Amino acid sequence: MTAFKTLDDLGDVTGKVALVRVDLNLPMQDGAVTDDTRIRAALPTINDLTAKGAKVLLLAHFGRPKGERSSTQSLSMVVGAVEKVIGKEVMFVPEIYGDVVKQAVGILGPGGVAILENTRFWKGEEKNDPELVKLIAENADFYVNDAFSAAHRAHATTEGLAHVLPAYAGRSMEAELKALEKALGEPERPVAAVVGGAKVSSKLDVLKHLVTLVDHLIIGGGMANTFLAARGVKVGKSLCEHDLASVADEIMANAEASGCTVHLPYEVVVSKEFMANPPSLRTCNVHEVAEDEMILDAGPAAVESLSDALKTCKTLVWNGPLGAFEMVPFDAATVALAKTAAALTKEGSLVSVAGGGDTVAALNLAGVSDDFTYISTAGGAFLEWMEGKELPGVAALEK
Ligand code: ADP
Ligand code: MG
Repeated sequence: MTAFKTLDDLGDVTGKVALVRVDLNLPMQDGAVTDDTRIRAALPTINDLTAKGAKVLLLAHFGRPKGERSSTQSLSMVVGAVEKVIGKEVMFVPEIYGDVVKQAVGILGPGGVAILENTRFWKGEEKNDPELVKLIAENADFYVNDAFSAAHRAHATTEGLAHVLPAYAGRSMEAELKALEKALGEPERPVAAVVGGAKVSSKLDVLKHLVTLVDHLIIGGGMANTFLAARGVKVGKSLCEHDLASVADEIMANAEASGCTVHLPYEVVVSKEFMANPPSLRTCNVHEVAEDEMILDAGPAAVESLSDALKTCKTLVWNGPLGAFEMVPFDAATVALAKTAAALTKEGSLVSVAGGGDTVAALNLAGVSDDFTYISTAGGAFLEWMEGKELPGVAALEK
């Protein structure tokens, strides 16, 4: 695993200036922050640095302003929400380098916190422009990256700065990397992976990587339909990518060659209507789906055997729901398997790591989020990690 420095490796930083890359790409409505999860994720790092007497300059992007200033995407909008979470005054600086930042640093006392402007207002950010990197670095003594969710991008503030300043992983980054390492780096075996969700095409690289790595691959959701169809199962009107049949076959063959058992649902919940509690709801064997029916979830007996498989495992990594969980009762399989995973984790026999936008929502719905070992809220970065890719933001923190 990548060896990186953490805040524990910092010497005396009283009065020193830290550039801290965080995730402040917050959900907003009518100018107000609607969910402060990402601010709270940055809190341990901010508290740690301010307690050590550092001056903290927060760097983050917001939206996609494409290298231009945009009044509707200024990070000044999040200052109030950040103040509320960290419980003290936060200065806003409408620049990311130059004299204005220098003056701000002069005004901030040890332990002071400022938010610099949206990094994506500068074209050099997404280009990882060395000139911009140099300019930003000029006002600081060291760099802390606490934004795992942006680590799959090699941008000036996610990657470039780590090369020109002493670089450290923040507390959230550290926790995320440790959890991911435990799940797929050097996991305790057997390892199970659940890959579900809508489409095979969006997660091809994930599947290809996982079959070489895990002992049990549980395929669910719309993706399972593509695999079933490839094996000649008639899936009716189900969401299915028929053109990917040969890719599905190849993944199955690779799984077999690597000793990975692939689990597909043999019993499914179907309906003719795409809606909650549809009148035509029924559970059937996977070979009994009618032409006008859609598979929208795995059936209870199938979930029971998945639970049994999971009970033999020591590690679980999960991305993607097993069914169309937004509509009852098609959340049942996801909720049931999530509860089994949570119980095994609580009991101490399973390390469970999950991630993905809809997956996090589904696990929240199941009420098990606190019982999993780790839940990653990083969308793209989590998937790239599941694909086995090196994340540039993480690689740059290497000692
Ligand atoms: P994540 O965001 O966790 O990576 P995805 O975006 O890949 O997950 O997939 C989630 C979506 O997949 C959900 O909207 C869910 O309704 C849908 N889905 C799951 N199973 C099915 C199914 N059998 N048919 C249609 N949609 C499905
Ligand atoms: Mg999604």
